[in-house]
Amino acid sequence: MPLNIAMDGPVGAGKSTIADAVARELGILHLDTGAMYRAVGLTCLERGVDLQDEEAVTALCAEIDMTVTYQDGGQRTWVDGVDVTGGLRTEAVSMAASAVGRYLGVRRIMVALQQKLAASTDMLMDGRDIGFRVLPNATVKIYLTASAEERARRRYLQLQEKGGADTYEQVLEDLRQRDYQDMNREVDPLRAADDAVVVDSTGSTFEETVARIIALVEEKSK
Ligand code: C5P
Repeated sequence: MPLNIAMDGPVGAGKSTIADAVARELGILHLDTGAMYRAVGLTCLERGVDLQDEEAVTALCAEIDMTVTYQDGGQRTWVDGVDVTGGLRTEAVSMAASAVGRYLGVRRIMVALQQKLAASTDMLMDGRDIGFRVLPNATVKIYLTASAEERARRRYLQLQEKGGADTYEQVLEDLRQRDYQDMNREVDPLRAADDAVVVDSTGSTFEETVARIIALVEEKSK
């Protein structure tokens, strides 16, 4: 059985960057499942599909051909043969991803694709439903979190680096709204799996959190 690691947590907990570093150190692939929901959201925006129209969004999701590849250790996400990776990180696409992620049909398609990718490959997957839905038999399950203020501060600095114009208050507000939507949707709301280890990174450095997770993986996979 391949080594599968599940990592879930709220917006801005640092899942993506921490998962990247952990996977690199372990020499395994990192699948950022958020990028897949983002790619569906972005495609809806580009093709003028109403995000509130469950039927239309689900039909689009069933119709597109989504693939994931790896280039220089980084994930590239493709829709119908086009690399959409560069367009996934805006706030509009974040909100669109959270909107399409409410729909059962969309989640079923995404989960099946993710399970197929992990079936034969050592992989660390990060998202919102990995520990309890996508990889219920994962060797290690981590729920990574931090206080809302700390998460907003990190995200604000990240957006600033990219030349974003949002204020800290706006980032905090968006983050609270997306957390609320992700934690209160009907289908598979974000939560820690019963057997997940909760890692709170408030007040820890990036390196400390990575080291803590590596230690957990080593302990659990003994
Ligand atoms: O992780 P990221 O912030 O890129 O995810 C974008 C959005 O995609 C989340 O706010 C969530 O609504 C959705 N998502 C999800 N299930 C996952 C990964 C992401 O519902 N496994």
